[in-house]
Amino acid sequence: MPPTEHPIHSSEDLQQIVDDVYARAARDLGKGKVATYIPALARVPIERFGMAVATNDGYFASAGDAATPFAIQSVSKVFVLMLAMRLRGASLWNRVGREPSGNPFNSLVQLEYEKGIPRNPLINAGAHIATDCVTAGHADPKQTILDEMRRLAGNDAIDFDPEVAASERATGHRNAAIANFLKANGNLESAVDDMLDVYFHQCSIAMTCEDLARAAGFLANRGVDPRTGVRIATERKARRINALMATCGLYDAVGSFAFHVGIPAKSGVGGGMMAVVPGDMAIAVWSPGLDRQGNSYVGVRALEIFVNAIGRSVF
Ligand code: GLN
Repeated sequence: MPPTEHPIHSSEDLQQIVDDVYARAARDLGKGKVATYIPALARVPIERFGMAVATNDGYFASAGDAATPFAIQSVSKVFVLMLAMRLRGASLWNRVGREPSGNPFNSLVQLEYEKGIPRNPLINAGAHIATDCVTAGHADPKQTILDEMRRLAGNDAIDFDPEVAASERATGHRNAAIANFLKANGNLESAVDDMLDVYFHQCSIAMTCEDLARAAGFLANRGVDPRTGVRIATERKARRINALMATCGLYDAVGSFAFHVGIPAKSGVGGGMMAVVPGDMAIAVWSPGLDRQGNSYVGVRALEIFVNAIGRSVF
């Protein structure tokens, strides 16, 4: 088989690969630690593991807990960034950079050195800028974000998890510090509490791997949702979001992830990960045990085994 052709010609082919990847990655279940700094996340059992893959040509397969909703957490940053890019165009980049941070996702030190301009929109500080644009730009920003997730996943049952949102608000002192710091530097338009309320809610959105694999379809398919044929973003915006995921999507583990896996991806502390093979397919994995950088231990393994199985990488 020529190396450029992926070995998937039916949903059955895909299901076989997913089942095999799932079984191999599941051997690492139990490794890592469930996030506890947001108390509502700590109650999720570490053995949970789901995986779903949706190809641009319409094949779909899933395994394990792929239909169980979890809080998407920082995976939401990708979608809110897309909404902010839609609202603000190029001027967004006056307020946030596009370089990997090399620091933990909730770091404060870099923000002070760099005068309130976050390194990129996929760490917390930069995500606050994108959320600020949506908060300032829509009458009901929470509903706007929710509606977009429902539309992209084709699932109107998707909703916020109010317990997760409240739990994060009660303990989100670092995020409050970041937001206040942005405000002090003149880089936040909305009131701090208004922006944070939207941010905590977007992080609490409960989705399944099946939902996320579908929602990421437009990133795998040059901006067009492969399921509905609707253009969600221009081809250039989709390519740029993928570039940001590839360089900033896994925080200070992004280099190792590029080395071992080699596709654009975004993680969240709920243990969810969304990844795309541009031009081919979208993949979602979920397992709540996290490594030291806050990325799903088994999720990263599953993606590594999967890309090796299909012989794909963007590098
Ligand atoms: N809600 C989390 C936080 O702001 C999101 C972080 C993440 O998923 N990495 O701390």
